[in-house]
Amino acid sequence: MLRTLTAASRNAQRNNRNLLFFRTLATAGPTIPETQKAIIFYEQGGPLEYKDIPVQKPGPNDILVNIKYTGVCNSDYHAWKGDWAFKPILPLVLGHEGAGVVVAKGENVTNFEIGDYAGVKWLNSTCQSCDFCQEAHESSCPNQKNSGYTVQGTYQQYAIADAVQAAHIPKDVDLAKVAPLLCAGITVYKALKNANIRAGDWVTIIGAGGGLGSLAVQYAKAMGFTILGIDGTNKKEHALKLGCDEFIDYNAVNDIPEEVLKVTKGGPHAVINVSNSVKAYNEAIQYVRPTGTVVLVGLPKGGATLSSDIFSHVLRAINIKGSVVGNRADTREALEFFRKGKVESNVKVVGLSQAPEVFKLMEKGEILGRYVLDTSK
Ligand code: NAD
Ligand code: ZN
Repeated sequence: MLRTLTAASRNAQRNNRNLLFFRTLATAGPTIPETQKAIIFYEQGGPLEYKDIPVQKPGPNDILVNIKYTGVCNSDYHAWKGDWAFKPILPLVLGHEGAGVVVAKGENVTNFEIGDYAGVKWLNSTCQSCDFCQEAHESSCPNQKNSGYTVQGTYQQYAIADAVQAAHIPKDVDLAKVAPLLCAGITVYKALKNANIRAGDWVTIIGAGGGLGSLAVQYAKAMGFTILGIDGTNKKEHALKLGCDEFIDYNAVNDIPEEVLKVTKGGPHAVINVSNSVKAYNEAIQYVRPTGTVVLVGLPKGGATLSSDIFSHVLRAINIKGSVVGNRADTREALEFFRKGKVESNVKVVGLSQAPEVFKLMEKGEILGRYVLDTSK
């Protein structure tokens, strides 16, 4: 009896020691360097410098994420140029599609562990207490902080996010492929939900071959919609391969509203515009089906306006709806489509130092899908 007890207590002691060892590891986490590689710029449109900058320390509610891959969104381009109505902080590290591993966390964080996969999104933090946050419209929170705009973003090896807003990424996915979902994927999935249409209905996606568009086509397909994609000549094959039922080349067609009405037999039930084209927005209002919805997603330069003929707008009972990123539930759902293989993320991976070249390709409209930056190069 005595011998059994002694063996049991020895076992308990060993277990306690193991537990203590693992606890110490978890609290300490991996070694975090003082400095790291980043792309940073100091004035709007100025040189995008690839250099060493200090690693930030997470606050009590934050996680520090070792960013492995970060997507290049057209919003980053606008942030760099400073051509929207509200301006970013300077100097600025761009980026809001960062996928990586949690390496440190603040003392109040209970929903992430060191070693978890996490995503740093456009919504870096929200207040959780305003009317909008209370009703899960977090992207309208007046106190929100935005990655790569009002706080430093993900074109760096270590980025901070509020643990409540950071995305939980399952361990079984490819971090390079998941990166674009953290803005482009969530945004188009939410826009399609906001379109309020049913399986089988027509949805027109303007900008179908770009970063948001390539994902929009696939989410729309997975949700059972019939898709008319619109984009340039160089995007046709790509957009059709992704799942467009029909495609209109905006370079080759003179009267786009007429062509859309013909293809969709009376106009699409919804239009999602993910391009920067103001002309395309104004055309969408003309051809959307009566009772249908035009969802505004693309963000042209500041000062752009829509013009709708009131008589026609009222009699056709059309809806015009703005849609900006998505909330935490949209994030979870959008990532789940990807994990289950219902959408594929077609990415081209290049080194972080090549961000300026990616912007040049973006300027020329030559990108099919999304470029992703590998922060180790
Ligand atoms: P992108 O450059 O990858 O894609 C834009 C696509 O639009 C390109 O394929 C381009 O060829 C196409 N296009 C241009 N003019 C067109 C026209 N007249 N007709 C049809 N297609 C046309 O850019 P992206 O990263 O997909 O971002 C698209 C836009 O969405 C940007 O304005 C960005 O700022 C905005 N955005 C908004 C939200 C939001 O929450 N509302 C989120 C992310 C990005
Ligand atoms: Zn974005």
